[in-house]
Amino acid sequence: MKSKKAVAYLIESDYDEGGLIVFAKSREQARNIALLLSGQFDHSRYIDLRAYRKPQMDKYYKRGKEIMDFNDPKDRLALVKDAGFYCSEYNRESDCAKCNAKKYCYVWNSEEGEG
Ligand SMILES: [Zn+2]
Repeated sequence: MKSKKAVAYLIESDYDEGGLIVFAKSREQARNIALLLSGQFDHSRYIDLRAYRKPQMDKYYKRGKEIMDFNDPKDRLALVKDAGFYCSEYNRESDCAKCNAKKYCYVWNSEEGEG
């Protein structure tokens, strides 16, 4: 029996809790993973979460991987480069100047341009 492969979804809530990339086999499973495993959506219920397909993130799926972790330098690089993520009050990089993903970060690049 061939099981369906997990693909990438972007999860967002109605409460400005930031975005999250999860790997799941369905939209419903993606929302459950975000709600129950990530700890990022403490103010949300299942119905407050929205899941959008992110095909450009599919290539980062590895067996057993369910969540892209912004605090992991490798994951962060991928999130900034291919999903348009950046630091916010929810996922603050302590020192953006030392961030390994700043080359791809449009917020960093636009701030640098102004200064
Ligand atoms: Zn940053």
